[in-house]
Amino acid sequence: VPALYIVATPIGHLDDITLRALQVLRNVDRILAEDTRHSAHLLQHFAIDRPMVSLHEHNEAARVVQIMRWLDAGESLALITDAGTPLISDPGFVVVRALREQGYAVVPVPGVSAVITALCAAGLPSDRFQFIGFLPSKNGPRERVLTEALAYTGTTLCYESPRRMVETLEVLARLAPQRPLVIARELTKQFETFLSGTADELLRRLRDDTDQQRGEMVLLLHGQATETLATEIDVDALLGLLAQYMP
Ligand code: SAM
Repeated sequence: VPALYIVATPIGHLDDITLRALQVLRNVDRILAEDTRHSAHLLQHFAIDRPMVSLHEHNEAARVVQIMRWLDAGESLALITDAGTPLISDPGFVVVRALREQGYAVVPVPGVSAVITALCAAGLPSDRFQFIGFLPSKNGPRERVLTEALAYTGTTLCYESPRRMVETLEVLARLAPQRPLVIARELTKQFETFLSGTADELLRRLRDDTDQQRGEMVLLLHGQATETLATEIDVDALLGLLAQYMP
């Protein structure tokens, strides 16, 4: 059946590509890539030689009809992005929604995503989490997004540009000075680092070692502690309940 395969690629370590991803990429008629030049290196590394066309945020809507024509003609297609899982802070959603609406087959070929990679090794609670994508680049919207995220009781994960990480930590130092944070940097690569601490502690680490301000980063915020929520407990009701067990 002609289908669009959504194929995850590595976020650093090339061995993180899956066997199934390689098999799919070798067999599709065409590969849609966010940046064909960037992906050419990956495909070359795995000796995959399929025709490539670009699919990025600026031409995604315009490509939809063409993609449907290729599928109608019996072609199978793969979508890849520069790194990790397509659609996760990456192009693809417009196409996937349109294909689903029209009844075309969309097949996930799962693999790495920086958000899950960070979560599984950061040491923050992983039972409940929210992913909020890239933080806004402008100060006002970013502070609003962070304020809202800080009220969440599970772990929050976001992508942040290395250029703004210091500024973001300064905002967090003001909004939530005690909150445990983790910066997961250069995941699966040679200089993979997990830095844990409060915003002030992390600011110190980043200023002492400016190498820590470079590379790709996921920022994790510990959830709002439930002790804070405990103040909302009705103390009289609780005492009444405990009184039943008192002699
Ligand atoms: N689709 C990708 C995924 O599944 O994770 C995300 C693409 S988004 C355009 C790129 C951002 O993801 C980076 O700015 C960084 O925040 C995060 N990221 C990607 N690779 C990473 C890595 N190796 N280590 C840490 N963060 C990474």
